[in-house]
Amino acid sequence: MSQELIVHNSVSRKKEAFKPLEEGYVGLYVCGPTVYSDVHLGNCRTFVSFDVIYRYLLHLGYRVRYVRNITDVGHLTGDSDDGEDKMSKRAKLEKLEPMEVAHKYTNGFHDMMRIFNTHSPSIEPRATGHIPEQIEMVQAILDNGYAYESNGSVYFDTLKFAKEKGTYGDLSGRKIEELMAESRDNLKNQDEKRHPADFAIWMKAAPEHLMRWNSPWSVGFPGWHLECSAMSTKYLGEQFDIHGGGNDLKFPHHENEVAQNLGSCNCAGARYWLHTNMLLMNGKKMSKSDGNTITPTQLFTGESVHISKGFSPMVIRFFMLQSHYRSTLDLTDEALQAAEKGYKRLLEGNKALMALNGASGSGDSALDKEINELIDGAFAEMNDDFNTPKALARLFELVSKINSLKGGQLSMKEVSAATLERLQETFRIFIFDILGLLDEETTAGGNNQALDKAMELILDIRQEARTNKDWGTSDKIRDALKAAGIAVKDGKDGASWSVE
Ligand code: AMP
Ligand code: ZN
Repeated sequence: MSQELIVHNSVSRKKEAFKPLEEGYVGLYVCGPTVYSDVHLGNCRTFVSFDVIYRYLLHLGYRVRYVRNITDVGHLTGDSDDGEDKMSKRAKLEKLEPMEVAHKYTNGFHDMMRIFNTHSPSIEPRATGHIPEQIEMVQAILDNGYAYESNGSVYFDTLKFAKEKGTYGDLSGRKIEELMAESRDNLKNQDEKRHPADFAIWMKAAPEHLMRWNSPWSVGFPGWHLECSAMSTKYLGEQFDIHGGGNDLKFPHHENEVAQNLGSCNCAGARYWLHTNMLLMNGKKMSKSDGNTITPTQLFTGESVHISKGFSPMVIRFFMLQSHYRSTLDLTDEALQAAEKGYKRLLEGNKALMALNGASGSGDSALDKEINELIDGAFAEMNDDFNTPKALARLFELVSKINSLKGGQLSMKEVSAATLERLQETFRIFIFDILGLLDEETTAGGNNQALDKAMELILDIRQEARTNKDWGTSDKIRDALKAAGIAVKDGKDGASWSVE
C-alpha cells in the first residue's frame, strides 16, 4: 500500500496521487452551513469527515489554510416555494432581524462543532461580509459574455457557456440537454431566463425580501452558488487544492461554482473535489416529514424513539469514523451501542499501552515485526483516501496485542523498547490528533485543561474540609458535582473524579 497520499477526486471519479500546487501548503475549502436553523446530524457528519481530513493533512506536515464559509444570505426555500427566503421566513417566524437569526444559529453551529471536538477552520468567511466580491464576480462574468441581465436579475448563460467551454456537467456527470433547472431559484422567474438550466447569480429582491444590497443591476442579493466561488477565490486563489462538501451539493451548487469560476477568470478553482456521503437513519434518508430524524441533542440525552439510551459526543464521533467518508453512514441503535463498546475498548487499550513497561526485546521477534507492520498499515490506510474504518481495524488488532501483553499471554521480552515507544506515540497521535477523539473519562466537552485545574482545586478544598472533619461541606461538594455529572470517588490515595 502506498505511503503517498491518494485522494478520490470527484472530477475524474478516480483515486489520484495528491500533489498540492505549492509544495508543503494546502488550500482547503469546505461548504459550510446555512444558518437559518439548528445544524443537523447530517451536516455534523460532513464537518467531522473534513475535520479528520484537515487533521491528517496537518499530521503529514502540510501548512493548511482551511476555509469554511457561513451561508448567512437567505436563499430561496426550495423548488416548490413562492420565492420567500429561508432567512426572512425564519426571521418573521421568530420576530427577529435576519442577522439575529444568522447569529443565533452560527453560535449553535460553533457550539456543536466544539462538542464534536472539531478544529476551527483558519478562516470562516460569511456570505454577507463578501457582497462587493460577489458583485465583482457577477460583473466579470457579464463582461466575459457568460451572463445576461433580465429585469434587474443576472443569470448565468449555461447554454452558451457549455457550448463554448464544453465543460459544464463534468463534476456531476449531467448533460446539459437533460438539465431541467434544479437550482434553488428555479421555479421562480423562469420567464426571465433564456434556458431553464440558467441560474441566478444576482437576484432582484422582492419587496418582502429582508436581506438586500445595492448593485449595478438592482437592489437585491447574490445567487447561492456565487458566495463559494467568490470566497474561495479571495482566500485561496484562482486555483487551489481541495474543495469539499456533501455529495448532495455536487449539483447544482458545485457544478455552478466551477462554471462561475471559469466564466469569470477562466480558472477552474479547485483541482481536487472531495465529496462526503449522506447520513441515513435505519437505512432511510433522514427526513423531518416522515419522522425519521433525530437531533444531536436528542442523541446525547436519549430522548428519542429511535434510540434506547443517550450516547456521548465522542461515541458519536467514533461511530462516524467507523465508516469511510464516501460511504453512506447508517445511524441505528445497534450501531451506536457497538460504537460505544469500540470507543471504550480503544481508549482502555490506550491506557493499558501507556502502562506497559519492561520492553526488552532485540527488535527481531515476529511480534515486534507484526506490531511495526500494523502501525505502518494504519498510516497506509489513512494515505489511501483517509480510510478511517480500515485504520481503526489496524488499531484494534494492535489493541488485541496490547491486551495480551498486559495479560501476560504475550511477553514484553518480545518487544523492543523502540517499538513500544513507537506504538505509544502512534496511539497518542492517532486517537487524539488524527481521529480527534477525547478521553471522556477525564475530559468534558474538550475543555480538559481548564476542567482538570478546576477539579484539582475543588478536590483540594474538599480534602481540607475532610481533614477538618467538616463532613457537611465535603458531602455538599460531592453531591453538587454529581448533579453536574461528575462522580467523585474516595480511595486510599485521595479522591479521584470522572465524567459520568
Ligand atoms: P447545508 O447547511 O444544507 O448547506 O449543508 C451543510 C453541509 O452539510 C453541506 O456540505 C451538505 O452537503 C452537508 N449535508 C447536508 N445533509 C447531509 C446529510 N444528510 N449527510 C451528510 N452531509 C450532509
Ligand atoms: Zn458552497
